[in-house]
Amino acid sequence: MSLNCLRLVCHSIKKPPVFHLSYSPSSYSSSPAVLVSMSYSKELAAAKKAASLAARLCQKVQKALLQSDVQSKNDKSPVTVADYGSQALVSSVLQQEIPADFSLVAEEDSKDLRKDGGQEIVERITKLVNDSITSDGSYNVTLSTEDVIKAIDSGRSEGGSQGRHWVLDPIDGTKGFLRGDQYAIALALLDGGKVVLGVLACPNLPLTSISAPDQHSPNNEVGCLFFAEVGGGTYMQPLDGSSAVKVQVTAVENPEEASFFESYEAAHSMHDLSSLIAQKLGVKAPPVRIDSQAKYGALSRGDGAIYLRFPHKGYREKIWDHAAGCIVVTEAGGVVTDAAGKPLDFSRGNYLDVDTGIIVTNQKLMPFLFNAVRESIKEKAASL
Ligand code: AMP
Ligand code: MG
Repeated sequence: MSLNCLRLVCHSIKKPPVFHLSYSPSSYSSSPAVLVSMSYSKELAAAKKAASLAARLCQKVQKALLQSDVQSKNDKSPVTVADYGSQALVSSVLQQEIPADFSLVAEEDSKDLRKDGGQEIVERITKLVNDSITSDGSYNVTLSTEDVIKAIDSGRSEGGSQGRHWVLDPIDGTKGFLRGDQYAIALALLDGGKVVLGVLACPNLPLTSISAPDQHSPNNEVGCLFFAEVGGGTYMQPLDGSSAVKVQVTAVENPEEASFFESYEAAHSMHDLSSLIAQKLGVKAPPVRIDSQAKYGALSRGDGAIYLRFPHKGYREKIWDHAAGCIVVTEAGGVVTDAAGKPLDFSRGNYLDVDTGIIVTNQKLMPFLFNAVRESIKEKAASL
């Protein structure tokens, strides 16, 4: 059955449109600036729907994985199936909801699935996608294995500074996924090279602050959906669909009271450098190490004040690892830059060209953080 047979039953949220000033050469001299309405509410509703369904798919696979025996835990195929399944599902939902000029930059492609032995995995992925896409009654569809492969491969766009491009990490933090820890489905939309909306589905993130473990929600509930549209703020709602609340980054101004996030995996970020930075700032709390863009989500609601990411030499950051997280934090009042203080540039294709690393905090703390980062990088280089 073709993707066009998908049947929509979901509702888009009503939000006031965001207005951007658009200057024409004549407006520069005499006429007033032209106001152009740029609401992305339809796209945001589609993105939330797609990410929530993908989260359900991943939860199902992770649950089975964690219940399995040691031998099958060492088998990496569950993450493979969930990764491709999440990408196929998100791609199918977006193409159905927003078919015009569809372009998707995503982490996976079907090359490996076409190799010997791939057919069985494709069949497992297809079953999972079909079960998940129909799970809440929004769609009535049966995708074929070819539909699924096509949906995965529609993520081969190069992105860039022209037009609109969806940006997807179908499972960000696969190591966390395998450990039973944090991971995220991260989806953003670029328009003219800028991130205009972002959605982070974090199935294992507690609904209440992870910095105050004694203040659990009534049943220690987990599963958060963060979403942001340019000019519209950041919201968080439970993945089960109950109502959304507006979130803000922390108002902490004193670096000594700040706490910071970093990667769980030492291979993804230099823990010794962040420790030096924290020492210079006088940060007392130990680092909070969690996987994936759940760090951006947690920071957007004030669970911690700072996120430090310093990949080892030679690693190039990909846009899908930061696009959704970046807008979720900036719309909540935070600042995201590279170590030289430059905003991240998502307009240059699949890669981000960042200087040394990525730093995230609130407006008040950024000058202190920036100085500590500069000094620490210099010191580290001198000691080598
Ligand atoms: P995190 O969970 O924050 O450590 O980040 C997870 C993401 O790091 C993955 O989705 C990968 O795309 C990315 N990644 C993979 N290898 C590296 C590396 N060597 N350095 C930095 N990031 C990496
Ligand atoms: Mg990733």
